[in-house]
Amino acid sequence: MKERLQKLIAAAGLASRRQAEEWIAAGRVLVNDHVAALGDKADPGSDRIQVNGRLLPRSEDKVYLLLHKPAGYVTTLRDPQGRPIVTDLIKNCAARVFPVGRLDAGTEGLLLLTNDGALAQHLAHPRHKVDKTYLVKVRGRLNEQARERLQQGVDLDDGPTLPAILSQLRFTTGNTWFELTLREGRNRQVRRMCEAVGFPVVRLKRLRIGFLELGSLAAGHYRPLTRAEVARLK
Ligand code: URA
Repeated sequence: MKERLQKLIAAAGLASRRQAEEWIAAGRVLVNDHVAALGDKADPGSDRIQVNGRLLPRSEDKVYLLLHKPAGYVTTLRDPQGRPIVTDLIKNCAARVFPVGRLDAGTEGLLLLTNDGALAQHLAHPRHKVDKTYLVKVRGRLNEQARERLQQGVDLDDGPTLPAILSQLRFTTGNTWFELTLREGRNRQVRRMCEAVGFPVVRLKRLRIGFLELGSLAAGHYRPLTRAEVARLK
């Protein structure tokens, strides 16, 4: 069905209708390789719509992004406190993506975003057990007893935690750094576990989700998952 171009561009999450109208008026929108005019309509199923040189994805196209979330950004889609939102970092993406699972505002690191609701539900389901590894910096010198408790299980208000793996232990002046790999993803779990053993978290970064790694991606940057990665996630 044909729709006005500004409506299609806005529906794809690229811009507001007003901004889309400005782009159309400025000749930055093409339909089947012809410059469109204000008021033109197109069929998103059969017409080739280009906006600022990029093809407008059809609404059914699925997008999978791996973002290095910086600290300070929230993973909800709106924040009553007015903090920045992770999706503000996604530019030039026609699809309306949302975060898979959550990271606290203060946590950095690997976050997946997608418009594939079925995959997001699959990954978030408690039955889908996937290891998640965090780089943790705590205040103080983490002692052996605390290390063992973190690994064997800590009693939290919502029950004991499953065994975890602690590695890459490193002491710096006044702090301890280590990696913690968890099999479960409860709300603020790493922070609560460390707090419970007497070592508050001062920095937290997610490095890995299963086979997906943050690698050297800079904070605030993202990359699309490869087809092979998407296939492995399903
Ligand atoms: N554990 C936490 O405490 N916070 C996060 O953001 C993720 C895991």
